[in-house]
Amino acid sequence: MVAIDYDLEFLEDGRTIDLISIGMVADDGREYYAVSSDAPWDEIKKSDWLVRNVLPSLPLVSRSALDGYLKIPQNSHPKPSLQYVAVNTRDTQVKPQWVIANEVRDFIQATDDAELWANYGAYDHVCLAQLWGPMVALPSGVPMFTNDIQQEARRQGLSWDDLPKQESGEHNALADALHNQTVRRWLAERAQK
Ligand SMILES: [Mg+2]
Repeated sequence: MVAIDYDLEFLEDGRTIDLISIGMVADDGREYYAVSSDAPWDEIKKSDWLVRNVLPSLPLVSRSALDGYLKIPQNSHPKPSLQYVAVNTRDTQVKPQWVIANEVRDFIQATDDAELWANYGAYDHVCLAQLWGPMVALPSGVPMFTNDIQQEARRQGLSWDDLPKQESGEHNALADALHNQTVRRWLAERAQK
């Protein structure tokens, strides 16, 4: 088994889950990070939470428009314009979703026996699997489920407050994936004692 810890940032509205960015780290040392150029940016920019928490670590054309927004208190009216906030398609981390689908498939298939892990990962798993369309189109070698750090913590009688804390980069998908790896390894070590 090669564990792959991952995290997605996404827009969800109770009906659909749209990928914004994905970070993956494998126990063999490989890392992957991408931002979808196909994400519904106009909708994303309507979400104050996503603008404040997810957009700041994405490769943007210009940071100044976002910085102007971030200076204003949450839920101010009228909201500052985000018209000029856009992901930078000249950044190699920004890719069409079909490219991300191919690269993520290759990343997972590079190990014979991948095991997926995420934190509160139900939505992450669905959004990941939908990279390739319906459930029946899941590429071979891509697990049909994601193990959840929360479930392992619960099994060990631990709550979130008992687990190692994330030092920085929260809501950057790669930083979150790396933190998931830290927590998952910490739990695995603890289980062996
Ligand atoms: Mg995250």
